[in-house]
Amino acid sequence: MFTSPYIGRFAPSPSGDLHFGSLIAALGSYLHARSLGGQWHVRIDDIDPPREVPGSARRILTMLEHYGLEWDGEVVWQSKRHQAYRETLDWLHRQGKSYYCTCTRQRVSQLGGTYDGHCRCAGHGAENAAIRLVQTMPVHSFDDELQGKFIADTALAEEDFIIRRRDGLFAYNLAVVIDDHFQGVNHIVRGADLIAPTVRQLSLYRHLGLPEPGYVHLPLAVNAKGDKLSKQNHAPALPAGDPRPIIVQTMLFLGQSLPECWQDLTLPLLLRWAVAHWSLKKVPRSVSIPQ
Ligand code: GLU
Ligand code: ZN
Repeated sequence: MFTSPYIGRFAPSPSGDLHFGSLIAALGSYLHARSLGGQWHVRIDDIDPPREVPGSARRILTMLEHYGLEWDGEVVWQSKRHQAYRETLDWLHRQGKSYYCTCTRQRVSQLGGTYDGHCRCAGHGAENAAIRLVQTMPVHSFDDELQGKFIADTALAEEDFIIRRRDGLFAYNLAVVIDDHFQGVNHIVRGADLIAPTVRQLSLYRHLGLPEPGYVHLPLAVNAKGDKLSKQNHAPALPAGDPRPIIVQTMLFLGQSLPECWQDLTLPLLLRWAVAHWSLKKVPRSVSIPQ
C-alpha cells in the first residue's frame, strides 16, 4: 500500500510570546513528526489582527530556533493566504453550501448559544453579514490517536458554523483546513483545547472533498483554577537562557523519559535523544494537567 510521508506542523497565533503551554504543542508535534521520519512545518496563524501582539510572530520564530526546533520549508503566514480563503468561500457559495447571516450575537445567545439556521433561505446579501456553512455533513465523533474516541456535543457538530465573520475576518475553522491541506499536513498534533472544533474541521474537509488528517490532542497545562496557561491569563514568556531545562520540563510533562545526565548533553543531542525515545503511549491521556 502507498502511504504518503508524514507531514506535521505547529501553528501558533501571534497573540503573545511563546509560553510553556505553547511549547508543549510545539515540542510534542515536533518530536512526534521527527520520530516518524516526517516533516515538521511552522505556520503563523495571523488571521485576527485585533488580537495580534506586534512583534510576537517574529519572537515566536526566534524562540523556536532558540529551543532548537528547526522546521522544514518556508514559514506560511495566514495573512498572505487571503486569496485562497476567498476562492474557497466563492466555491462553497456557488455550490449552495453557504449563506449570508445577519443575526446578531445577542440573538444567537438568546437561542442558548447554538445557531438555528434562521438565515439559510433568507437570501441576504454580503453587506454586514457573516457567512455560515450549510451543515449537511456533520461529524459527530472522531478517533483521536491519543485521547481515543471523542464524541462531540450534537449542537456543536450540527450547527451551521461561521466560516467568515461579520467583521470580514476569515474564521479559524476555515483557514486551518485550507492551510493544512495546502501545506500537505496529514497529521495534526496540538493542544486539547482544540479537540471540540475538530469535528467542524473534519466536516469542512468532507464538504470540500479533501483527505482528512489524523489527530493527536495533547494534554493542556492548566493553573490551579483549571484555566489553560495562556497569554490571556499571563503565562510567563519562556526564558531566553539555557533552553535545556525547559525542554526537559516539557518532556516530563509529556510523560517521556529522560537521558541520564541530560546536563552533559548539548541541545541538539538532547533533542536527538528525545526524538529517538519519543513514545506517544507514554503521554498522559488526560485533557488537562495542573502545574
Ligand atoms: N493557531 C491556533 C492557536 O494558536 C492553533 C491552530 C491549530 O493548531 O489548529 O490556538
Ligand atoms: Zn442568521
